[in-house]
Amino acid sequence: MSVPVWNPAVEFMEREALERLQLTRLRQTVAWALKTPFYRRRLAEVGLTHPEDLGSLRDLRKLPYTTKDDLRAAFPDGLLAVDLERTVRLHTSSGTTGMPTVIYHTRPDLDHWTELVARCIVAAGATARDVFQNMTNYGMFTGGLGLHYGAERVGMLVIPVSSGNTGRQIHLMRNFQTTVVHATPSYLLHLHAALAGEGVTVDQLRLRKAFIGAEPHSEETRRKIEALFGIQAYNSYGLSEMNGPGVAFECVHQTGLHLWEDAYMLEIIDPGTLQPLPEGQTGEIVMTTLQRQATPLLRYRTRDLSHLVSGNCPCGRTHRRLARIKGRSDDMLIVNGVNVFPSQIEDVLMKTPEVGTNYLIQLEKRGSLDRLVVKTEIYAKLFTGDPRTLDDLRERIGEALRSAILIKPTVELHEPGSLPVSEGKAKRVVDLRPAF
Ligand code: AMP
Ligand code: ZN
Repeated sequence: MSVPVWNPAVEFMEREALERLQLTRLRQTVAWALKTPFYRRRLAEVGLTHPEDLGSLRDLRKLPYTTKDDLRAAFPDGLLAVDLERTVRLHTSSGTTGMPTVIYHTRPDLDHWTELVARCIVAAGATARDVFQNMTNYGMFTGGLGLHYGAERVGMLVIPVSSGNTGRQIHLMRNFQTTVVHATPSYLLHLHAALAGEGVTVDQLRLRKAFIGAEPHSEETRRKIEALFGIQAYNSYGLSEMNGPGVAFECVHQTGLHLWEDAYMLEIIDPGTLQPLPEGQTGEIVMTTLQRQATPLLRYRTRDLSHLVSGNCPCGRTHRRLARIKGRSDDMLIVNGVNVFPSQIEDVLMKTPEVGTNYLIQLEKRGSLDRLVVKTEIYAKLFTGDPRTLDDLRERIGEALRSAILIKPTVELHEPGSLPVSEGKAKRVVDLRPAF
């Protein structure tokens, strides 16, 4: 089988050459960073005043970390490394929890980003013959414009519908015989549930692939999406601080997400000690931009948790692979002292055949104890009127959760369509416990 590839020279580059390229670009990035007051100060603190002070890639460890709080403190342009007239676009993060963070781009920055997204699309087996419906928001959120320009560069026919209006999405898919979509996994599950209401069946669509990302999801959720639509779904990872989509993507083999190492230096660290972890251990993803002039970021702490997949991918790409994102170091729940990741709960739910396409995790306080409530939609046909069917199912899900997370939560079963849905990132956890 021939491997679909966009830029073979870079994607199959020998590691040694790739690392030489990284060092050149890292020095260039430090030179750009030194143009900002923020990094001039930070780098001076560690005795670094010149890019040539970096003797090898190991010296990356001498560089200071950058956090989301640093980005917020630098609002709006404390991290801008070029004159404003050379910038052509900015994106901000959603900023629901305080000051937004801003990333500026020059024209070459946008060009590089587009190139990375084109590589991802082709690695996942899509081509210029595909009709691409982009169901993510076209605004400050980077998923819309990011995938849009990448898909155009590949030569796909792009339907720039943006997010929301599920009925319209379904009719566009049918009328234009869409073959590839980009959406959050939770939205695709919601869309599937809405097909019948629009009088459309999966057979009337020509869908063959989906790019899913922007939110944590389990392998079981991916398999469910694949089975419901009869397609292949590929995991797409990115964050606005690193441009957006195009950071790491699955190739057709679906064995982890290739991270484009000519554009990003990758480290996995222990979020407690801040020390780099040996390959294969799970920790926080830290990235350094290697190609972005307007807003270079050194050792940015993403808070996302993952590990490196060992060995080589059958596709032959030399860029290493990240495992599916396990969650964020700040989304771990502590329930009566036990650590629980929402992804562990999702795993169990999506493995249960009766479970539908939506769920919600709620935390409450009962006296001095935490109470974990897992609300999940189940298929309508299960509401037969016989309460034993539902009692049995509740008990089965409760026990399966107990063996996965060591806590037996209260399980609530809901009818399809009754739990809240989001057009963008799903909000899976509602924590009603008082702050202290
Ligand atoms: P934003 O900067 O608003 O695009 O959000 C980026 C964040 O979304 C990342 O830091 C991750 O926490 C999450 N995210 C993006 N893509 C994925 C993915 N494929 N799997 C899990 N989480 C993701
Ligand atoms: Zn591969």
